[in-house]
Amino acid sequence: MESLLDGKKLASALELRLKKDIDDFSDVAGRRPGLAVIRVGEDPASGVYVANKEKACKRVGIDSSVHNLKADSSPEEILGTINSLNNALKIDGILLQLPLPKGFDEKQLLKAINPEKDVDGLHTLNLGRLIKGEEGPRSCTPAGIMALLRYNNIPLEGKNVVVIGRSILVGKPMALMLQAANATVTLAHSKTLNLPEVTNQADLLVVAAGKPNLIGSEHVSEKTVVVDVGIHRIPISTDSMGKKFKLCGDVRANEIASKVRAITPVPGGVGPMTVAMLLVNTVDRWQFHCGLSSTVSDLLP
Ligand code: NAP
Repeated sequence: MESLLDGKKLASALELRLKKDIDDFSDVAGRRPGLAVIRVGEDPASGVYVANKEKACKRVGIDSSVHNLKADSSPEEILGTINSLNNALKIDGILLQLPLPKGFDEKQLLKAINPEKDVDGLHTLNLGRLIKGEEGPRSCTPAGIMALLRYNNIPLEGKNVVVIGRSILVGKPMALMLQAANATVTLAHSKTLNLPEVTNQADLLVVAAGKPNLIGSEHVSEKTVVVDVGIHRIPISTDSMGKKFKLCGDVRANEIASKVRAITPVPGGVGPMTVAMLLVNTVDRWQFHCGLSSTVSDLLP
């Protein structure tokens, strides 16, 4: 087993495969896959994420469009955009970039997306399908982690897995996917008592707490495989060009990398896999809408 679980490398390999699938099937489908991203407001981090997704779409041959809406847009305006994309024949996937500016009802807007175009897998129907083990779009971050674990031959059946974080975006779907892979899953959160005691039992520890440097040597053993989902921009200095940042995760990687069995880097671990799974979901939805069999179902948990 590699000690560094390299998401960037796997994401690049997946992009090559997706590009070939798109090139091979565009003629019979009559068009290329289409992805629409809705961005509300001017959050700079969201801007970087959206730009990265657009670049990735371009690399593999997905037609992507970004719908920028102002932070003071009314919910009706956003719903109007979602509805027109729901009805657009050349759009296979719709992604509402989160988080939304304060004051918006995220749940109501996510629910308005056609579940068959829900490439983020966050629609209530698709989360229900995940619980029931039925096919449907899966949330990109946990699905990307499952693909990374599978590619690196990390065993899951019968293993003790601890997931830190119980959000709808990451923690809960992650726990369900790991459970479906026959792991014994513990879901920890901010009210969990004696966290180091809990995490020390883990063969696999997935950390999605959104707290920089939360997890250190005291939380892991030599047998632990660590997946660090957190991503934080920490200001390190300010010069005439503005503030400089460094990226870090929820895990003190320097402290534990030489101790644990394997770890995902930040950046270059979960982040690129999240984008890769958005592409996989878009290609899957394109094939579904065009009446073709999915060529990517082996990549979906
Ligand atoms: P979130 O909605 O803020 O949820 C955080 C979860 O962590 C909550 O369930 C919370 O518990 C738990 N938590 C917080 N502090 C804790 C502590 N001290 N001990 C144990 N549990 C604690 O965050 P999220 O949306 O799931 O995202 C988590 C992190 O992943 C963020 O850093 C985010 O930026 C990152 N992320 C990265 C990617 C990527 O592609 N790399 C994608 C998505 C998210 P309670 O429920 O009790 O509050």
